[in-house]
Amino acid sequence: MNLTNIGTVKEILSRHGFSFSKGLGQNFIINPDICPKIAENGNACEGFGVLEIGTGIGVLTAELAKRADKVTAVEIDTRLLPILAETLEEFDNVKIINEDVMKCDLHKLIKEEFDGLKVAVCANLPYYITSPIIMMLLENRLPIESITVMVQKEAAQRLCAKVGSRDAGAITVGVNYYGEVKKLFDVSRGSFMPAPNVDSAVIRIDLNSEHRLDEESERFFFKVVKAGFEQRRKTLANSLASIMGIPKDKVYASLKDMGLSETARIEQLDMEQLIDFSARLMKD
Ligand code: SAM
Repeated sequence: MNLTNIGTVKEILSRHGFSFSKGLGQNFIINPDICPKIAENGNACEGFGVLEIGTGIGVLTAELAKRADKVTAVEIDTRLLPILAETLEEFDNVKIINEDVMKCDLHKLIKEEFDGLKVAVCANLPYYITSPIIMMLLENRLPIESITVMVQKEAAQRLCAKVGSRDAGAITVGVNYYGEVKKLFDVSRGSFMPAPNVDSAVIRIDLNSEHRLDEESERFFFKVVKAGFEQRRKTLANSLASIMGIPKDKVYASLKDMGLSETARIEQLDMEQLIDFSARLMKD
């Protein structure tokens, strides 16, 4: 079935009485070039199981299933299940789990679904929860090799920014702490049905197999990072005092020992400085 043919897609959707939910970020891919490219760049190949988040009518799912050993997809919208039963009928290596991905036990899912396989995540993410999903995938320390996702262009810019620059955010620190991120290609808004108001881009995060900090230090590190970026216009001393209750003097002393100004803001610290700074604050 050609799931990028607008006529075919409209026919299936109307036959099932389906209407797009804006709230669930439902913009389905109709440009035939995109899904094969995501699959090819996203580790969908022999020896891999792919976890997909948000199937829509299965246009990407099908391209993943053609290449990977197995695809397990988590889709929140129950109305899509009868459609997927039809569109993915020819594949016997696809399983759909009808759940909210943010509530899934992904460690359990990966263990049960992908035993003996390497695992990759591929998705055209629902835009309303792009960052929470990416952070959740990273912070859970899941046994995955890569995350290849379509996100809105602005989110791609933030994800691929340099830590220690104005464009960076907590998510930038997250992807650079857990792995390496790069932008693969841009996707115009006309590639979707319905067309969103902004363009998109596909990025890939390759995850490190080793972690730089133990779990407790890592948790503290991300508390500091999130607090710093939550009030990014404030100095670190002010934001960490107000959000985490860390005494300003302790922040001043740590910054001074690192050769930084007492009025430093989080976006002025690079990755190594952030890790060093957090370790100093954690010490009694
Ligand atoms: N992969 C399809 C495509 O590219 O055409 C659909 C992508 S669409 C941008 C996002 C999909 O994620 C929708 O099918 C939506 O119902 C689903 N979704 C939204 N929130 C979700 C959540 N919390 N958990 C799982 N799926 C979700």
